[in-house]
This record gives sequence, C-alpha cells and structure tokens, in this order.
Amino acid sequence: MSRKTNNSEYDVVVVGGGPAGLQATLTLGRMHRRVLMLDSGTYRNDPAHLMHNFLTHDGRPPAELRALARAELATYETVEVRDTGATSVVPDGDGWSVGTDTGPVGARLVLLATGVRDTLPDKPGLASIFGTAAAHCPFCHGHEYAGTPVAVLGCHAHVGRVAAMLAPIASEVVVLADGDELDDANAAQLRSLGASVRTEVVAGFCPSSLGAVVSFDDGPTLEVGGVLVATTFTQSAPFAADLGLDLLSSGCVEVDAMGRTSLPGVYAAGDLAHTAAFPMPMSSVLAAAAAGQTAAAACVADLLALDHGVLAPA
Ligand SMILES: Cc1cc2nc3c(=O)[nH]c(=O)nc-3n(C[C@H](O)[C@H](O)[C@H](O)COP(=O)(O)OP(=O)(O)OC[C@H]3O[C@@H](n4cnc5c(N)ncnc54)[C@H](O)[C@@H]3O)c2cc1C
Repeated sequence: MSRKTNNSEYDVVVVGGGPAGLQATLTLGRMHRRVLMLDSGTYRNDPAHLMHNFLTHDGRPPAELRALARAELATYETVEVRDTGATSVVPDGDGWSVGTDTGPVGARLVLLATGVRDTLPDKPGLASIFGTAAAHCPFCHGHEYAGTPVAVLGCHAHVGRVAAMLAPIASEVVVLADGDELDDANAAQLRSLGASVRTEVVAGFCPSSLGAVVSFDDGPTLEVGGVLVATTFTQSAPFAADLGLDLLSSGCVEVDAMGRTSLPGVYAAGDLAHTAAFPMPMSSVLAAAAAGQTAAAACVADLLALDHGVLAPA
C-alpha cells in the first residue's frame, strides 16, 4: 500500500486534542481532508483554572477554549474526533497504522500533538498550588501576582532572568535558594534588581489568602502572592521514541519550520516539538495552535505532492 495510492481510512490521524491538535484538525477539516483526532483527555494546563496571554481568551478557563474548538470541529464533515488514546503508531506500507482501544486505524500521514508533562521540584504542598499560586511561566501567570511579593524557587541557571521578568510586576522579588549557592552571574543580576534571597532550605508551601505561605527548615515563614517554579518536562506519549524520531537536547522532537519530523509522513506540533533554532518549545496555547496550523498546512502540501506532483514548499 502506498501513500500515493492507498485506501487508508484517513488522510491524517492527529494524535492529541490540546490546542495544537485541535487547530491542526480544524485546518485539515477546512481543506476537506479526512482527519481523525484522537484525544486521551489529559492536557498540560490541567492544573490551571484560567489561561492567559491568548487574545479573546485571556483569563478564561482552558476547558472553555477546548469546548468551543470541539463545537467548531463538529461542523466539518470530514472531521472525526474520538475521546480515546492512541496506543501505537507503526508503519503500514507507505502509510501508518495507529492503534486505538477500539482497533487500529489507517492513515496516510500522522501528526503528533501529544504535548509534554511537567514534574515539579519535590516540595510538600507545591503540587496543590501549581496552576494558581505557583506557576512556571511569567508570561502565563506573572500578571496575576501584580503588586505582591513574588518568590522564585531554586538556584537554576535562569533564576536571575525570571526575577528580572517579575521585577516590574511584583512589589518585591524574593529568591528561595533552598540551601543551594547562586552562581556569580545570577547573584549579580539579583543584586542589580534589588531582589532579596532567602538561603534556608524550603520546607513546603501552603495556600493563603494572598497566595501562598512558604515555610523553611528554620527562620520565619514568608507570605507571597505567587511562586515561580522551574519544572522539568518529558514527552507525554512514547511515539517519538517508538518511531526513532530525531530529538533535540530539550527532549523535544526536532521539526523543520513546517512541522515535519525526521521521518517522512510524521509531523509534530505543540509543546512536544520545536525547531533547532530554539532551546525549548515556545510553550503557550497560542504558539501550540499556530504550530498545529503550520504542520497541518505541511500535511496538505505533502498530500498534494503525493497525489498531483505539486511541489511542497521548501
Ligand atoms: C500550569 C500551567 C499553566 C499554563 N497556563 C498557560 C496560560 O495561561 N497560557 C498559555 O498560553 N499557556 C499556558 N500553559 C502552557 C500550555 O498549557 C501549553 O503550551 C499547551 O497546552 C500546549 O498545547 P499542546 O497541544 O502541545 O499540548 P497539551 O495541551 O498538553 O495537549 C496534549 C494532548 O495530547 C493528548 N495525548 C497525549 N497522549 C496521547 C495518546 N497516547 N493518545 C491520544 N492523545 C494523547 C492529550 O490528551 C491532550 O489532548 C500552561 C502550562 C501549565 C503547566
């Protein structure tokens, strides 16, 4: 069976129903491509009640955006959505077989939009405030802490930069060194900002009316409006590894500017992928949706090339 002539049920199977997968599916549906979107129902921003920094949806629930997107998809005849997980993605001739709980489906192309998952520093109480009084991204949640003291947890390489981003927003920035040493560059940056440093080991976090109370192994507690925390992230799904896709040092799938992976016929969009020009994905709802649209356009271009010899864009 060849991608050029095959009778696969779908032109494209999109794996993932976050902003990247939803937008990719919309774009393919609008081009009357037979597209199946599989969504296992777990989203990176699940801990957050509200999303920000997205025109028209600033300060609205992420679930609302997804529900509106699903309603829009339902108006396109060639779009099918299933609330189920993909279990495998394997080559099938020149196309792909995507395993699901209800059996395999055939696709000419596969677009991975499965996202990443965060692991927080191991501190008591931190998980329960992550997404509200604690956040990993100043663009997504910094403004919500405006005019209050804001803590930045850890001595990681970017602590000075994060503190500098918060400085115009917060009433005061306090770095929680958590018993570690700041390197010289970060220490100098914090001094120039007038940020203070608590050197004690952080014992944990509790929600408070302002935001959160930080407790330490010794010394007084600290109440802040918000805590900025660096997470480590990993791929949500095994397909990039299973397919042997080229990965970047961030752990994300390497894609070209159009969302093509190292494996012809497999595309990737959203937080799980980025180009080599970036050190990490531009993790945001808008950027993920934009990447989904771009990768879907690449799918359309490549299907045209397969079917009609129309040249794909470079
Ligand atoms: C706490 C928090 C708050 C955030 N707040 C904001 C904010 O305010 N504004 C903003 O712009 N960004 C915010 N972000 C970032 C934003 O959530 C991500 O950038 C965005 O969700 C990435 O979209 P995505 O489609 O790549 O992945 P996701 O939204 O994570 O979606 C992944 C999709 O893949 C599916 N999936 C995974 N495995 C499988 C499988 N095997 N089969 C089928 N489906 C599968 C999932 O179910 C899901 O549908 C926040 C992130 C976090 C952690």
